[in-house]
Amino acid sequence: MKLNERGLLIVISGPSGVGKSSVRKALFDMPNHDLAYSVSMTTRLPRTSEQEGIDYYFVSEEVFEDKIKNGEFLEWANFVGHYYGTPRDKVEEMLDEGKQVVLEIEVDGALQVRRQMKDAVFIFLVPPAKEALINRLKSRGTESEKELQERIDKAESEYLLAYKYDYIVVNDEVNNAADRIMAIIRAEHARTERTIHKYIELMEGEDSEE
Ligand code: 5GP
Repeated sequence: MKLNERGLLIVISGPSGVGKSSVRKALFDMPNHDLAYSVSMTTRLPRTSEQEGIDYYFVSEEVFEDKIKNGEFLEWANFVGHYYGTPRDKVEEMLDEGKQVVLEIEVDGALQVRRQMKDAVFIFLVPPAKEALINRLKSRGTESEKELQERIDKAESEYLLAYKYDYIVVNDEVNNAADRIMAIIRAEHARTERTIHKYIELMEGEDSEE
C-alpha cells in the first residue's frame, strides 16, 4: 500500500563515463519496480545502438532553442557542444500519476532541478577509481579524440560537486550500484514528511468509522 500520492523525482547524476545509463538500465530491469524514465531531448547525433524516443528525442539546435525560449524544459545544459534537456510537462504528468520518475542527467542540469524541486532525491554516481572512468570512456569508442578529452576534462570539474547531492553511490559493479539506488528510493519513499499526511488521513478515517 502507498502512503504517498504524488510520485518521487529521483535524479541520477555524476561525471560522464561513470556508467549512469548502464546503472539506470539495470535499475529498470529489476522485478516489480514502479519507476518511469524521463527520456531527454538532445541535439547530438544518435549512436548506432540508440533509438528515437527510447534513449533520447533527437532534435535540431533550432528546435531545442525554441523549446528553451518557450520554457519547455525543467532543466537543460550544453554539454561538450550539444544541448541536453528534460521536457517539463512529461515529468510533471508522471509525478501527478504517482510514478517514481528517474532523470539521468549531468551535473549542471541536476543542480537546476535541485533549485526547483525541493523534495527530489539527488544521487551522485562515482567510479571506484578515476582510471575506471577514463578507461570506460575510451573503451566505449563512441567519441572522437577531441570530444573524449573534453569529457575527461569536464569530469574533473564535475567530481567537485558531489557534496551538493543527497547520496553518493559507487559504481563498482552495475548491479550492485542499481541495488544501492533501489534501497535509497525505497527508504526515501517511507520518509515521514512524505507519508505523514496520508497516514493521518487514514487513521482519522478509521476513527470516524468506529
Ligand atoms: P551522452 O552524450 O553520453 O548520452 O550524454 C552526455 C551527458 O549528458 C551525460 O552525462 C548524460 O547523463 C547527460 N544528459 C543526458 N540527458 C540529459 C538531460 O536531459 N539534461 C542534462 N542536463 N544532461 C543530460
